[in-house]
Amino acid sequence: AGAAAETLRFRPAVTADGEPVRVHVNLADPEELAGLDPAQCDGVGLVRTEFLFHAGRGLPDEAAQLAVYRRILAWAAGRPVTFRTLDAGGDKPIPGLTIDGESNPFLGLRGLRLSLAYPDVFRTQLRALCRAAVDGHARVMLPMVTVPAELAAAAVMLDSVVADLAAENLPHRRPPLGIMVEVPAAALAAESFAADFYSIGSNDLTQYTMAAARDVGAVAHLCDAGSPAVLRLVAATVEAAAARGVEVSLCGDAAADPALVPLLLGAGLRSLSVAPVAVARTKAAIAGFSRHPPP
Ligand code: PEP
Ligand code: MG
Repeated sequence: AGAAAETLRFRPAVTADGEPVRVHVNLADPEELAGLDPAQCDGVGLVRTEFLFHAGRGLPDEAAQLAVYRRILAWAAGRPVTFRTLDAGGDKPIPGLTIDGESNPFLGLRGLRLSLAYPDVFRTQLRALCRAAVDGHARVMLPMVTVPAELAAAAVMLDSVVADLAAENLPHRRPPLGIMVEVPAAALAAESFAADFYSIGSNDLTQYTMAAARDVGAVAHLCDAGSPAVLRLVAATVEAAAARGVEVSLCGDAAADPALVPLLLGAGLRSLSVAPVAVARTKAAIAGFSRHPPP
């Protein structure tokens, strides 16, 4: 980030006309926490838990997951931490878990669809998250949610995990349960999901809206989060969140692009989450935004 942007790193983000905007960080691996000062962010908007499931290590057991989740909550020191349940499949294959040779992996058994297909794997993760939630402000977020029945199924699973932990006398808490909005069907019907919060995944939402894969360079010009069609879905999600009285944020790469930040704020977002490297430049882009141009 430039020197001017760098001066904003540890200040709360605010637009040119004085509206506060929360800026969180995305984490792909707890190793990123070394040398990262939590004072520069309002919390963790996305923990990509796939790192726990990387090849060669086997599936992580409850104790291993609990230790990592606690470490991240301790780092955050009371700030909210949004843990995304396993988002395997699509661009994130996990040997031994995801299906090889799907004709269309982005449209296949990925994200929450996979977790619901492997309830033992999902329950283990939910147990570890409920136990970790005692130690801080943990939230649980489901990836690739498409229809309300999937959220309902996950909520039933969370309730049963909470009941089991209570019966076992293990300290636990039921964290808020939110959804990623990254499938157009979810954005278009956002108000029909009984989610405790929404977080827009602009990477996937863009590829599914524009029918242009996020990992194919030849169609990168179409895979544009600033497209009017994508921004309409963002605005619709913001409106649904306001109507339901729940929080909405955005944790895709669009929030780290200074050219797109004004469009996202214009669509009504007041909470973003970006990779640690982008915090200062996103705050600078926010500082340059004004809803009411000066007279
Ligand atoms: C997204 O899709 O925008 C997102 C944040 O999740 P991921 O990039 O991990 O799919
Ligand atoms: Mg995604």
